[in-house]
Amino acid sequence: MARSTQESGKTPSHSPETTEATGLSRRKFLGGAGKAAAAGALVGWLPAFRIGAAEAACSTPTGFPSGITLYQQAYINWARDIAVDPMWTCAPATPADVVTVCNWARAQGYKVRPVGAMHNWSPLTVAPGATCPNIILVDTKQHLTAVSVNTSGTPKTVTAQTGILMEALLTTLEASTLGVNACPAPGDLTLGGALAIDGHGTAIPKTGETLVSGNTYGSLSNLIRSLTAVVWDTASSQYVLRTFQRTDAGCAALLTHVGRAFITEVTLQVGTNQRLRCQSWFDKTAAELFAPAGSSGNTFTSYLNSAGRVETIWFPFTPKPWLKVWSIAPSKPWTSSQVNQPYNYSFSDGIDQSIVDAQAQAVLNDPTTTPNFGLTQYNVVAAGLVLTSTWDIWGWSKNTLLYIKPTTLRVTANGYAVITSRANIQRAINEFYVMYSAKLSAYQALGQYPMNGPVEIRVTGLDRPSDVVGISGAPSPQLSALRPRPDHPEWDVAVWFDILTIPGTLYANQFYSEVEQWMYSNYASYGSVRVEWSKGWGYTTSAAWSDPTALGTTIPNSLRTGQAVGDNWDTAKATLDLFDPARLFSSPLLDTLLP
Ligand SMILES: Cc1cc2nc3c(=O)[nH]c(=O)nc-3n(C[C@H](O)[C@H](O)[C@H](O)COP(=O)(O)OP(=O)(O)OC[C@H]3O[C@@H](n4cnc5c(N)ncnc54)[C@H](O)[C@@H]3O)c2cc1C
Repeated sequence: MARSTQESGKTPSHSPETTEATGLSRRKFLGGAGKAAAAGALVGWLPAFRIGAAEAACSTPTGFPSGITLYQQAYINWARDIAVDPMWTCAPATPADVVTVCNWARAQGYKVRPVGAMHNWSPLTVAPGATCPNIILVDTKQHLTAVSVNTSGTPKTVTAQTGILMEALLTTLEASTLGVNACPAPGDLTLGGALAIDGHGTAIPKTGETLVSGNTYGSLSNLIRSLTAVVWDTASSQYVLRTFQRTDAGCAALLTHVGRAFITEVTLQVGTNQRLRCQSWFDKTAAELFAPAGSSGNTFTSYLNSAGRVETIWFPFTPKPWLKVWSIAPSKPWTSSQVNQPYNYSFSDGIDQSIVDAQAQAVLNDPTTTPNFGLTQYNVVAAGLVLTSTWDIWGWSKNTLLYIKPTTLRVTANGYAVITSRANIQRAINEFYVMYSAKLSAYQALGQYPMNGPVEIRVTGLDRPSDVVGISGAPSPQLSALRPRPDHPEWDVAVWFDILTIPGTLYANQFYSEVEQWMYSNYASYGSVRVEWSKGWGYTTSAAWSDPTALGTTIPNSLRTGQAVGDNWDTAKATLDLFDPARLFSSPLLDTLLP
C-alpha cells in the first residue's frame, strides 16, 4: 500500500507524472497560466501534473494520515483562468480513507476539496490566485471508481463510486443495454463532479413520446436513488460515512450540492439503452431557427416537437448555427453512418492544442478579427461535417451524446436556465436572439468584440419527482437549477443559454453583466432564471461570481421563491451546514454564496 510522505518522513516522491526533465520551469510556466489568461494572453495548455520534491514550495501538512498517498499537484481548470500550484493532493484508496482525511483535516484546520477532472468554470473548488492554501485536494479519479450494475430489480440500477468518469460509467451501462436519456457532452467528467452541479444534456419529449422507465428529462441528480456522503456525526464527534435513501431527511440537499458536500458513492436508476440518431445541419439560418413564437418553418420548436433533443451552436457574426437534432431510432436509417465510439466530431475537438491556442491568441491580439474568427469556426464545422461524414450519425446513446474532448478551444462561458412552460420556448429563444444580436452590433459599432465564441442553446425537462420509479414522496434536488416550481406547475422545461468567449477578451465581463441583468428582467413575467452552477454568473462589469446582489439575493431567491418552507434554499443551506459544521467542504465562493 502506498504510504504517505508524512509517515515515511520523506518529501513526496516523484510519480510517473512528475516531469523531471521539465520540472521547475514547467511549474513556473503553469504558475503563470492563470495570471496570463486573466491578462488576456493564452499559454500552451498543460494538463495538471504532479510536482517534484525539489520544487515543493508549500510546507508538508502535519501528521497526514499514514497509508494515504499524498503529493503536490498543480490545480488548473478547463478555461485555465484558475491555476494554483502547488496544492497538496491525496488519492484515497477507499471511502474510509476519505473519512480519515476529513477527520485529520478538521483537526488540522484544512479544507477538503474533492476534485474530479477540474473542468468546472466556477471557482467552487479553489479560488484563483491562492498560495499554499490550507486545502487538501482529494483526487477521486484514481481509486474511487468502482461500479456495478444491478439488472435484477425494477428499475435497473447502477452503483458507482464518484471518481468514475462519465464515459466509463456509460460504457459499463451500455454493456448491459442500459443508458441515460441525456448527459453532459464531455465524457471525461467525473460522476461526482457532474452530480455536484446538476449535470444535464438536452432532451424533452418529442410530440407523443413517453419517458422510458428509469430515465428522466431532468438532470443526472434526478436519477439518484441513494447516496453515501461524508457527514458529521454528533454522537461520535467525527466525520463518518452515511448512506441516505432518496426519501431520507437531508438527501434533497445532497442530490445537487454545488460542492458543499463530499459524496463517495451513488446508486442511480437507469433505463433501457436507446439507439440515437444525431443529424447536423449548417444551412438553417439563425433568423428562422430563432424566429418569433408562432412562426412556421424550421423553428427551434419545430425540431423539439419532431425529435425532442436539440442543440444549436451559433458562432458570432455568422448567419447559420450548427444545428444538432437527436432522435430515437431503433434501426439505422439508411442515410446514417453507424458510430461505435463517442467523440465523432474530430474537426472541432481533435485539433492540436497549440493551433487552437494560436488562433485564440490572434483574436485576443486583434479583436477586429472576431467576425472572421466566427466565420472560420463556422466553415470548419460545415466542411468538417461533410469531410468526416458525420452530419448524420447513429449508434448507442453514449456514442452520440458524448462529443467533447479536451483538445478543443479553451473558452469560458456564462450559463443560465430559464424555467418556463413548453409553450414559451420559442418566445424565450427569440427574445434572447434579438437581445444578443442587438448587443453584438452595438458593441461592434464601438469597435468592441467581447464575444468570440458561440451561443449554445439546449432544452431539458425538470427534475420531476415522478420520474423516480417506485419511490413515492421522492424529493427533488433542492439546489438544482431544474427544480420544479410547485406554484407554477405549468413551467415544465428549462431553456439553457450559454455564451462562450476566450478568457481575457476585452469587455467580456461588461457584456456578460448586461446579459445577466437583461435575463433576470426579461423572463420574470413568464419564467424564472437560475444559474448554471458550473459556468459564469453573478457578473459585475469586471468579474464573474462577484456581484453581491446576485450572490446574496437573486440566486438564493431563485431556489427559494415558490418552494415550500422547510424544503427550499434555506433548508438546503441549513442541512449542508449540519452535515459539515466545520465547513471542510467549502471555498471562498461557497462561503459567500452559502455562508
Ligand atoms: C467543455 C465542457 C463542456 C461541458 N458540458 C457540460 C454539459 O453538457 N452539461 C453539463 O451539465 N455540464 C457541462 N460542463 C460542466 C461540467 O459538468 C462541470 O464543470 C462538472 O462539475 C465537471 O466535473 P469534474 O469531474 O471536472 O469536476 P471538478 O471540476 O473537479 O469539480 C467540480 C465541483 O464538483 C465537486 N466534486 C467533485 N467530485 C465530488 C464528489 N465526489 N463529491 C462532492 N463534490 C464533488 C468539486 O469539489 C467541485 O466543487 C462542461 C464543462 C466543460 C469544460
